[in-house]
Amino acid sequence: MSTVKETHSFETEAKQILDMMIYSVYSNKDIFLRELISNASDALDKLHLESLTDHGLSEYAKDPFIRIVRDEQDRNLSVSDNGIGMDKDEIVSYIGTIAKSGTKEFLDRLKEKREGDAAEMLIGQFGVGFYSAFMVADRVTLLTRKAGSEKAWRWESSGDGTYTLEEADRPIPGTTVTLHLKESDPENGMKDYTSEWVIREIVRTYSDFVSYPIKMQVEKP
Ligand code: ADP
Ligand code: MG
Repeated sequence: MSTVKETHSFETEAKQILDMMIYSVYSNKDIFLRELISNASDALDKLHLESLTDHGLSEYAKDPFIRIVRDEQDRNLSVSDNGIGMDKDEIVSYIGTIAKSGTKEFLDRLKEKREGDAAEMLIGQFGVGFYSAFMVADRVTLLTRKAGSEKAWRWESSGDGTYTLEEADRPIPGTTVTLHLKESDPENGMKDYTSEWVIREIVRTYSDFVSYPIKMQVEKP
C-alpha cells in the first residue's frame, strides 16, 4: 500500500467558507451534527439507489445505519455511515471545492457582514454542511471507501487552508467523519459534544426525521 501523503490546498471559496466557520461566533453550533447526519443519510440513499441497478453493491446496502461514537478522553466525536463512500477524485472535488453556483457572489456580498451573521446566512442559504464541522473542531478526519472499490482514503485538515490525503484501510464501504473537538465553552455555544445527553438532545431536535437508524453507545446506568 502506498504511504504517500499528499497535501492539497482548498480552493479560494472553500477557504473563505472554512474561515467563516472557524472564526464564527454563530451561537447555534449544534447544527454541525445535523449536517453530518444528513450527509450520512444522503450517502445511504445513494448506495440504496445504485444497488438497484448494480447488483454487485446490494450486499453493502442490506443493513444501512449511521453510528455516532463519542470519546470523552480524547475529545473526539465521529459520525459513520455504511453508505456510498467517495473515491479520491470525489473527495477532491466534493470536499475541497464549493460546487454550488452563486457561492462566490454570495460570499462577496457577505463581506460587509459581521462574521456571525455571515455564517448564519451562509448556512441558511447553502446549507454548507461538511465545513460546519470546523465550528466545533480544530481538526477533522474523513476516512472513506467507495462502494465497489477496495481502496480507502484518509482526508485530514486543521482548516488552515490545506488538507492531506493518503491511502488507508477501511473494512467496509462508507464514510467516517471524526472531529477533534475544541475546548468546551458553553457561554459561547461550544457545548460538551462528547456528552451522551448533549448528543441525544441534538439528534432529537434536528435529525428525528432521518429514515436510517442512528446508533450510539449508551452509558451504563
Ligand atoms: P451538500 O450535502 O449540500 O452537497 P456538504 O458540504 O454537506 O454539501 O457535502 C459536500 C459533498 O461531500 C456531498 O454532496 C457529498 O458528495 C460529499 N459527502 C459529504 N459527506 C459524505 C458522506 N458521509 N458520504 C459520502 N459523501 C459525502
Ligand atoms: Mg450536506
